[in-house]
Amino acid sequence: MILLDYLASHVLAFVLSAAVLGLLVGSFLNVIIYRLPIMMQRDWRMQALEYLESPAEPAGERFNLLLPNSRCPHCDHEIRPWENVPVASWLALRGKCSSCRAPISCRYPLVELACGLLSGYVAWRFGFSWQAGAMLLLTWGLLAMSMIDVDHQLLPDILVLPLLWLGLILNNFGVFVPLNSALWGAVAGYLSLWSVYWLFKLATGKEGMGYGDFKLLAMLGAWGGWQVLPLTILLSSVVGAVLGSILLRMQRAESNTPIPFGPYLAIAGWIALLWGDWITQSYLQFARF
Ligand SMILES: [Zn+2]
Repeated sequence: MILLDYLASHVLAFVLSAAVLGLLVGSFLNVIIYRLPIMMQRDWRMQALEYLESPAEPAGERFNLLLPNSRCPHCDHEIRPWENVPVASWLALRGKCSSCRAPISCRYPLVELACGLLSGYVAWRFGFSWQAGAMLLLTWGLLAMSMIDVDHQLLPDILVLPLLWLGLILNNFGVFVPLNSALWGAVAGYLSLWSVYWLFKLATGKEGMGYGDFKLLAMLGAWGGWQVLPLTILLSSVVGAVLGSILLRMQRAESNTPIPFGPYLAIAGWIALLWGDWITQSYLQFARF
């Protein structure tokens, strides 16, 4: 493969390709973030009706990640391909629907931009390797599940569990850590938050987090090994404190909307996987004096 040889030997070309791929994937992540929860809710409703032996509802329009085509929620205008170019279309349309001029949330181009930048960084950090490819997949998955958690306080199993298995499979070939570190990482990741949850619940009668959070930490442990867990938990409280105070200041008034823990864990885990060694070494060096 001439293209692969070229990318393997030209760092800048590899980083730029990953960034462009990241922008395109970011556009698809927006679709997943919006549609997957709706698909899951429809599925639960159907299962519930079936269980209650209620008459099934007439099937509506087909709705999955590919169909129907994206439309403006205000005027039903079908989004044309040139209006779907990551970031650029939103800027060209100045954040408005081309048909009814209703504003389009800046979240869409921001997710695309974040995905492009993070993908470019991962490519630069790992170079042309299996690690880079795997880390790109993980980054995209974490981005999608964080945004869904923000919107719905929900970490879909259909995103978390395949990535957990993928982490174990990759580490069977020692891509990031030896398999036994990964296995105990998954086990300890799940059990640590599970114990915190039950201690908290027995002490206060409240639920501090959800089962999705245990599975997410298990998944991060499967990728980075058990060694990555203490730093991830520590960083998630730092990220939570920083982001939480920014969010509170932005909203000003007290809000009752619960802030999900998933995005903090995802960000902390991502940082721990990429810079864990460096952070630990710097800390140890600092602590020695
Ligand atoms: Zn419109």
